[in-house]
Amino acid sequence: MDVQAVSALLAALVILAIGASVVLRNRSDRTYTSFAAFAFMVSAWHLCNFVAMATDSALAGWLALWPAATIPPTAIAFFRAFLAQPSIGGRHRPPRVTLAWTFVAYLGLIYSAVFDPIHHELWFAVPFGAYVFGGLYRCVYDMYVQYRATVKRVERTRVRYLALGGFVAITLALTDVLPRFGVAWPTLGNVLSILYLYFLSQTLFRYRLLDINELVGKMAVLGTLVLLLWAVYGLLLAWIGGGQEGLYLLNAIVASFVILILFEPVRARLENGVNRWLVRQRTELRGRIDRVRRDLGNVVDVPDMVAKIITAFEESRRATDGAVYLIDPDGAGFDRAGWFGRAPDDRIDAGSARAFLDAVRAGHVDVEVLRRELGDTTGTGAPAGAPADAERRATVEAVIAMAERLHADLVFPLLGTGETEQGPWLLGLLAVGDDRADGAFDLDDIDSFRQLAAQAARVIESSQAYERVKERDRLAALGEMAAGLAHEIRNPLGAIKGAAQLLIGPDGKPMPPSPEIAEMVQVIVEEANRLNNVVTRFLDYTRADRAERLDQVTVDVNAVVKKTVSLLQQAPEARGAEITVKLDDMLPPVVGDPEALVQVFLNLGLNAIQAMPQGGTLDILTTRRRRSRLGYGQFAEVRFRDTGVGIARDKIMKLFIPFFTTKARGSGLGLAISQRIVSQHGGTIEVRSTPGQGSTFSVFLPTRPQPAQAAQAAAIPSPDDEVELTPPPPPAV
Ligand code: ADP
Repeated sequence: MDVQAVSALLAALVILAIGASVVLRNRSDRTYTSFAAFAFMVSAWHLCNFVAMATDSALAGWLALWPAATIPPTAIAFFRAFLAQPSIGGRHRPPRVTLAWTFVAYLGLIYSAVFDPIHHELWFAVPFGAYVFGGLYRCVYDMYVQYRATVKRVERTRVRYLALGGFVAITLALTDVLPRFGVAWPTLGNVLSILYLYFLSQTLFRYRLLDINELVGKMAVLGTLVLLLWAVYGLLLAWIGGGQEGLYLLNAIVASFVILILFEPVRARLENGVNRWLVRQRTELRGRIDRVRRDLGNVVDVPDMVAKIITAFEESRRATDGAVYLIDPDGAGFDRAGWFGRAPDDRIDAGSARAFLDAVRAGHVDVEVLRRELGDTTGTGAPAGAPADAERRATVEAVIAMAERLHADLVFPLLGTGETEQGPWLLGLLAVGDDRADGAFDLDDIDSFRQLAAQAARVIESSQAYERVKERDRLAALGEMAAGLAHEIRNPLGAIKGAAQLLIGPDGKPMPPSPEIAEMVQVIVEEANRLNNVVTRFLDYTRADRAERLDQVTVDVNAVVKKTVSLLQQAPEARGAEITVKLDDMLPPVVGDPEALVQVFLNLGLNAIQAMPQGGTLDILTTRRRRSRLGYGQFAEVRFRDTGVGIARDKIMKLFIPFFTTKARGSGLGLAISQRIVSQHGGTIEVRSTPGQGSTFSVFLPTRPQPAQAAQAAAIPSPDDEVELTPPPPPAV
């Protein structure tokens, strides 16, 4: 018996075992059954070949061509079913065209048996071979196409390994025909087809990239040992010879000794290397989650946090689905705040999902553990249908059903530090799933996720605290504003009342007309006008909120500044102050209302001049900026720096509150209105001041349009070496 025959028998048996092991695992899965069909065809082909070679039977040679003709459609059917799996996402297409060719091949074989044995002819064998190998290469091509189309990294890697391996295996199998044409070539095809089919069967069960890497490592160990054994055995055969049975046995024994002695060190060395490589991959993945966790330390914004977590999960490639849910304001349920993979429910109702939420709150939900528990409750010694058992079963089933709706294998609680009657305060949920495998996450993963969930809960809590502070500030600002408004109204009212009282004589009758009385009437009219003024300006301020009042034209900020300066120079107070102007010629234009901006700049300029009653310098400067308190972006900054009295630390936070003023005849609306206008341009005003030395007011205007609400971010404080700078947003009126 020659090597070809023995290796064919070996391939037939091993591949049969591989196919059987797959179909025994799961007989209802299309991918598994079609793999088995493919493997059985390859096995049958090898088996018939073996019989043909061993017995020189023409019938077996002819029979071998039947499975050979059936390999292409079964292979294509398998690979298409495999690539159409949801995780890979290929289209499902049946191998119709190939079936037509298969039919032709069958007809040829029947013709060959009935009429004329054409299967020995080269003109038949070559197209037949082209059909078989063409079909196999077609599978590689399908994989290549899917590799290009697959987005998920883990699946891409998997498909790439398979496509490459397939190409090599098919090509080497093709070279097996070379010896028939007299070319000296080792028969590698059989060995490789075994290895490839084994690899293929394993990728059906192992889904994670990590496992595939592990598999590649094991294959490396196995392959090296096989080669080693082969070399030792080959050497012995060549040296001692194997003709007689005794020598044959001796060779086998010596080779076994050598292998057993070398096995341990070789395996240890190889596995060590592979493990180091795997550990690096693993730490890389864990590092990613840890990085996000650290990142979250600097995040106050909850949507920002959710986005970071979702991206990290998606990029970690450890999960195919993930979602973050956050408790809604009235605590009646949890709203989906972010997700990736398949869309989960957009809301979890606290009432109907009570069992689920309790289970999550109590630690975390692990669907695999629960499924195992369900399996156990049926098989335990407890009498089936015992009430406690049935109740527990129902709960577990409800929890699993809810987790499935979230496409989650694991659900972690985002726990607050506060307590409620049901236990710790549940602020949200973090759901993670992997639809490629059951129990896709190990304990290390679970630990990482849990820590991430804890960190996310901290972010939510601190953001809530931050919101509360903001709300408190807003209320405080509203109070200040009301006080300012009351003051503005009470002063003229007091004057009016005083004057009116003088108009009535001690006897209760109106006083006769006189110059004093005329003066009193004059005071009443003036104060009433002032009241009217206060109300008008207040209405102006509230109206400034309406964005549509503003023009939206392209504005040259430098031109607006020049116009403001010429107006400032005409102001009577400006006489004692020196005004210097420095403009950035490259300043990009902004979009907005030039008149409204003149109002803002004039107000800042006048305030600065009024802050320098003894005279001083007002520097006005325009410049380009890459960031402001709103974040990074393109901004035009207009800066007003004075050498005036400066602003005390406790006043700085109040500057932008309507009616806040320190001036005898101030309205306290100038900065409030300016802030509104700048906000409507998507910008912000920043203030720096050192009492006794002067103040700097900077207007930042985005040179690319930004939504007006971005200005709210102005309230986020940032560390600075000068006195507290940026005021809270103006209160809603
Ligand atoms: P008004 O000028 O009518 O008082 P504003 O809203 O323009 O109203 O200003 C509010 C307060 O801010 C002023 O009363 C003043 O105390 C303070 N302020 C504004 N600009 C300056 C400045 N450049 N230097 C010192 N204080 C200032």
